Amino acid sequence: MEMKQVSNNCYAVLNEKNLICDANSGLINRAGGVVIDTQSDLGHGRQMIEMFSKVWPAMPQRVINTHEDVDHVAGNQLFEGAEIIAHRSVAERMMKVADPKDTQKLLHGVGHFITRVVLKTLHPGLEAAGEQLLEDYNFDGIELVLPTTLFDERYELDLDGTEAHLIYVGPCHQVGDTIIHVPKERVVFAGDVLFRQCTPMGWTGSYEKWFQCLDLLIQLDPEVIVPGHGPVCGVEGPKEMKAYLQYVRDESRKSFEAGVSSLEAAKQFEFGPYGEWLAPARLYMNVERAYREFRNEPPDAPWEQEATFDAIYQVAKAKGIPVEF
Ligand SMILES: [Zn+2]
Repeated sequence: MEMKQVSNNCYAVLNEKNLICDANSGLINRAGGVVIDTQSDLGHGRQMIEMFSKVWPAMPQRVINTHEDVDHVAGNQLFEGAEIIAHRSVAERMMKVADPKDTQKLLHGVGHFITRVVLKTLHPGLEAAGEQLLEDYNFDGIELVLPTTLFDERYELDLDGTEAHLIYVGPCHQVGDTIIHVPKERVVFAGDVLFRQCTPMGWTGSYEKWFQCLDLLIQLDPEVIVPGHGPVCGVEGPKEMKAYLQYVRDESRKSFEAGVSSLEAAKQFEFGPYGEWLAPARLYMNVERAYREFRNEPPDAPWEQEATFDAIYQVAKAKGIPVEF
């Protein structure tokens, strides 16, 4: 992990490895400080706090969660007594999707020889994802701490004369998607509506909403965008990601109409320039999302964990590229 100053008062902690769970955090270092997203586990949360503490005067009393996924909320408990701000949906959604028990169970299973062999036979993709996570993460000890301040469309903070605008943009990647715009510093903390130099994964939402949100990121004309995953960028970040999603949706349409399954379609797709991004086989999820839309399924149609990771694994194998998530 590294800390980067991105403007006068804004900082980011970046997870350079940039695979699943390697999420970024932000700090607006005004009015006692506001931390944006709290990492995937307590170890990473503590490391983030240590890095930010080099510039902040004291532990901030305000936290923002950009959405409900575990890699953005697991360290909430480290900010004891803090006000935690998020979109209205996040409290309830966190209990559904951010409960670390399943992932913890997976890592314990992968950590033991017998269960690892069994899992590898039944679900090679899930097993591989577990092994990858085990290298860097430990979900023990996490107690979910839910947001204390919930908002609907917009929420504004006045940080000693520097405004921070929380804008609800979901559901595009997840139900609670929120971006934080600091106009005076020309900075946006985008959460997972923006993945940079790694293949986006979307869980709940629609292509249309995601396009609108990426357009908004461009319109806000920031100098710096801190994505949820990947290095900081300018507006080229949302432009490239929009082009990727458009490409995937267009190609998916052709395969869908030809009666090819989403998994087979993902195996056949040319990655094009996006093969340079990390974990290109996560493409499967974007194809599957497009198919769900073509079938008029609701944006919150659930994902089965085993099947999803196994499909990504199969795409990577078919393409002859490293299995990474
Ligand atoms: Zn994330």
